[in-house]
Amino acid sequence: MVKTPRPAAAVRLHGQPSSWVMLDAYLWRRDGGCIARFVNNTLWAGRWPMLQGLPDPGPCRNAAGDERSPYDRENCTREHVKDEPGMSARAENDEDHTVIVCWGHHVFGRQWCTGSLVRAAVRLYIAAANQRLSTERGQLSTGQGG
Ligand SMILES: [Zn+2]
Repeated sequence: MVKTPRPAAAVRLHGQPSSWVMLDAYLWRRDGGCIARFVNNTLWAGRWPMLQGLPDPGPCRNAAGDERSPYDRENCTREHVKDEPGMSARAENDEDHTVIVCWGHHVFGRQWCTGSLVRAAVRLYIAAANQRLSTERGQLSTGQGG
């Protein structure tokens, strides 16, 4: 079977054509680093209850497997999350289907990241985090004509 090359990835933000640079800027403002840091963390339990009680993700790591800070931009990448398990071949490149994770949780934590429990929780997180950021933006723009 011949594999057809994947077309250039279309990136969207807020429903509009965008770029990886713009999407990444949004994701960093929303997630602030690897989202595994929220998991089973009592400091974040109030804001992100859906990320509590999941399998232990372990520490954040770089691509070489060394422990790193979840806030370290150069050790982070994006994880794609489909709407439903096994639907389309690949999740869309937009803020509804991507989160920031470190390389450790992307590569070495593959089983953690792709587990159905974690996937379901991350979908809830994405929806709540987008909503939260949208609300904050609304408050910021009040009185400034949008
Ligand atoms: Zn991580």
